[in-house]
Amino acid sequence: MSTVARDLPRIETLSQSQQRGVDCVFCGITLTPRTAVDLGPRRLRILGHVTHWYPRACGHHPVMAEYLALIVHTQDCPTCLDGCATGDRLRRADREARR
Ligand SMILES: [Zn+2]
Ligand SMILES: [Zn+2]
Repeated sequence: MSTVARDLPRIETLSQSQQRGVDCVFCGITLTPRTAVDLGPRRLRILGHVTHWYPRACGHHPVMAEYLALIVHTQDCPTCLDGCATGDRLRRADREARR
């Protein structure tokens, strides 16, 4: 499974505005409340402390948004590999999007 290319860019490669969710993390366009897609909180480890950041994207990356929703979900879902309904739905959506 090639997941890396469709994951988020590494946070240290992003601008301050992208890290704060002001600009799209993928293309750098400035977001408005109407165009922003919330990609969910992401864990970030800084000097041994775990914190979160809240990446957002513009509406031009819907496939990635679905895929990222899956990533975010599986990070926090303990039963995903045992047939979780939400995980199944997201995985199906991701497969559809690849066709
Ligand atoms: Zn974008
Ligand atoms: Zn799950």
